[in-house]
Amino acid sequence: MNKLLNELGTRPFSAAEYADIVRLYTPETAAALAARADAVRRTHYGNAIFIRGLIEIGNICKNNCLYCGIRRDNAACDRYRLTDEQILACCEEGYALGFRTFVLQGGEDSAFSDARLCALIAAIKAAHPDCAVTLSLGERSHDSYAALRQAGADRYLLRHETADATHYAALHPADMSFDNRMACLQDLRALGYQVGCGFMVGSPEQTAETLGKDLKFIEEFQPEMCGIGPFIPHAATVFADQPAGDVGLTCYLLSVIRLICPRVLLPATTALGTLAEDGRERGIRAGANVVMPNLSPPDVRGKYELYNHKLSTGAESAQQVADLAKRLAAIDYVVVTDRGDYKKEG
Ligand code: SAH
Repeated sequence: MNKLLNELGTRPFSAAEYADIVRLYTPETAAALAARADAVRRTHYGNAIFIRGLIEIGNICKNNCLYCGIRRDNAACDRYRLTDEQILACCEEGYALGFRTFVLQGGEDSAFSDARLCALIAAIKAAHPDCAVTLSLGERSHDSYAALRQAGADRYLLRHETADATHYAALHPADMSFDNRMACLQDLRALGYQVGCGFMVGSPEQTAETLGKDLKFIEEFQPEMCGIGPFIPHAATVFADQPAGDVGLTCYLLSVIRLICPRVLLPATTALGTLAEDGRERGIRAGANVVMPNLSPPDVRGKYELYNHKLSTGAESAQQVADLAKRLAAIDYVVVTDRGDYKKEG
């Protein structure tokens, strides 16, 4: 195999070398890297697949990200906000189904104030002391992140979206800042969260160079979690007519990330499962070890529409986790009831 591919994960690469890695993608190189990534994952986590119950707490958002279906300007979006009682009921149900991590995700909505979220996190922790709470609520202030951490939040997912400032500006309106997003990730890290970054594969204007920068950033930041899924257009956005990202390239990049961050918790995302019937299994075989089934109240699932045709049924539904476990057992992986924390070195 190519020398650069062989050296992947054995030494730091430059962004230009990572861009070359991206250009080397073929079905053959993808298969070879997937085998290596699977072996690396097995050394650290065996064949365990960690599950997270994803609760989409609201789709009201002050931001206007050009790719996102719940962007502020989408007047056709049917907006909702869950009550604390609804969110706690989701956790209760998820606990009985075997979930030990709850992910609270939503738009940037000032109604979810620090006071409200802190009380909610404390209530979840009091009801389920053996569970981890992960937040994915976008950009907040350092003090806000500190308060939420103090209240008991363990992890925070904030995809960096792209590590190239020009590309960032092509995906976001002028009032959003690349520097602020990156600063948020540093704040979260400094506050002791397990931190997740990530990006979409095939977003408009993405190139091998911008992906090379994403991989370099990930190599240096060493996130505890990393969310990578294909871009999928939403009809009510600026990018309605853009093509979706590629499933094979997404899986290849999952393998690359597993090799450069051996212990990272890497989800096979809903977007991957939405684009290909076997997307989830392909992601896991490529090195992913997390799935995040939907634990939101069934009547709001269709409303949290980041992109068109987003799956929330079948193996994407928390209620079907037994079916998911069966599907994964068929390819020799075991869904575990465990917080599934990041394994620190040593
Ligand atoms: N408001 C939170 C949560 C965002 S939704 C935040 O800002 O972090 C979670 C992720 O969905 C986003 O980070 C983005 O990468 C992804 N996403 C949004 N629109 C998408 C689309 N059209 N296709 C694929 N993924 C998308």
